[in-house]
Amino acid sequence: MNITHISAECYPIAKVGGLADVVGALPKYQNELGLKSSVIMPFYDNKFSKENEFVSICKSEVLLGVYDHKFEVLKLKKNILEFDVFFIDIPTLLFKDYVYSYEDTDRFLAFQIAALDWMLALEDKPNIIHCHDHHTGLVPFMLQESFKYTSLNKIPVITTIHNAQYQGWFAYNKLHLIPPFEMNNAGLLDWNGMINPLAAAIKCAWRVTTVSPSYMEELKIEANGLQDLLKQESQKCVGILNGIDIKVWNPETDVYIIENFSEKNVTLGRGKNKNWLCETFNLDKTKPLFAFIGRLVGEKGTDLLPEVFDTILKEKECNILLLGSGHNEVEEQLNALKEHHKGNYDAFIGYDEKLSHIIYAGADFLLMPSRVEPCGLNQMYSLRYGTIPIVRSTGGLKDTVIDIEDKNGFGICHNEVTVLQIEQAIKRGVSLYNNQERFKEIRKNIMKIDHSWDASAKEYIKLYNSIN
Ligand code: ADP
Repeated sequence: MNITHISAECYPIAKVGGLADVVGALPKYQNELGLKSSVIMPFYDNKFSKENEFVSICKSEVLLGVYDHKFEVLKLKKNILEFDVFFIDIPTLLFKDYVYSYEDTDRFLAFQIAALDWMLALEDKPNIIHCHDHHTGLVPFMLQESFKYTSLNKIPVITTIHNAQYQGWFAYNKLHLIPPFEMNNAGLLDWNGMINPLAAAIKCAWRVTTVSPSYMEELKIEANGLQDLLKQESQKCVGILNGIDIKVWNPETDVYIIENFSEKNVTLGRGKNKNWLCETFNLDKTKPLFAFIGRLVGEKGTDLLPEVFDTILKEKECNILLLGSGHNEVEEQLNALKEHHKGNYDAFIGYDEKLSHIIYAGADFLLMPSRVEPCGLNQMYSLRYGTIPIVRSTGGLKDTVIDIEDKNGFGICHNEVTVLQIEQAIKRGVSLYNNQERFKEIRKNIMKIDHSWDASAKEYIKLYNSIN
């Protein structure tokens, strides 16, 4: 079976968040299971495109409204990934040093049209088209409705919602950018008087998946306006938990971390990573280290962190290290705290893949006080590296972390996103750390939990088979 993923992000080529990790891993595991899985993505002006060589496999023009944009389909010269990636290079729109911007409607619409135009010309057509998030949300609509893609409309198409907060909506003055279709069906594009790519995908895709079962259920209650639509379409919706790429995220071989380790030498190995973090960020090695990694946005509950950190650090029982970027105000508040809690706190405002790996390998606890968490990969990475997750029970966090007070528990969970509950959760972490015997036993056990893609990749195959 020939699967084509269409996505804006794919690790290690271009990553903003978890979407990249999923699209960079799922095809690999699908290929291992005997499928032929590939990715179509935009060609960006980034480190990956600068450091690799590409060959052109098609040159054409994509019509966006009344303007033609030159485009080329590129492939890597050397086969360095374990799956094929086809890059859509539209120099005027996509070849930028960022993935997302305020012009995304035009950029990703051109990307989707160019990808389908190229597919029209392919001899070997995919058996399944698998779209990811709203940036590719108009693919199911165009396949079903646009006259020029009639020959592709029998190909089953799936949309995976990685995050329903972002829907890519735009006004009707851009309707003409979508290749001609039967206007009586324009309602398929509409949600609340706007063209809504994610809503169109939910209506037109043959199947809709979310990245965890709990998130699917939560979306039927609150989905940034799309809850009724998801309830209505629930017979074709299913939640499949993401896996993690255990080849990339392996503490025994991870090239980014200071010292590699396994369950057998976890204390020594993790100790060296923690030492490095404490020395680099001027933290106290004798105290537990709590960390946060991620986007500083409302969904992640990070607006509460400055107050939580300020209160908890006054007790001088722990260290806190944060890696992330996002809302300016939160960034400023987090930076301002440095002055007051020297020796126990630091924040690295920015994106740093290497540092994130060292934190997973060296912190004692990872904080995820998310208001919304479709799946969450950080908690699964931290489990694999022996860092105990402290999570708000929601979405994928609810599906992957069991509280230490419950049967077979290994993490710390709280129900509400409040300053008080996050503080209490950190204090429970401090108590656990002070009971070193139990702490170390849990740490060893969590490293053995299997969150690899094997099980989830099989779930997707089952889904593909059900519509192919
Ligand atoms: P989301 O996609 O909502 O941001 P996920 O938990 O699904 O959240 O995935 C986040 C991914 O991005 C993880 O691989 C995490 O390590 C990484 N990440 C997030 N912020 C940073 C950062 N500032 N530096 C390095 N890696 C980051």
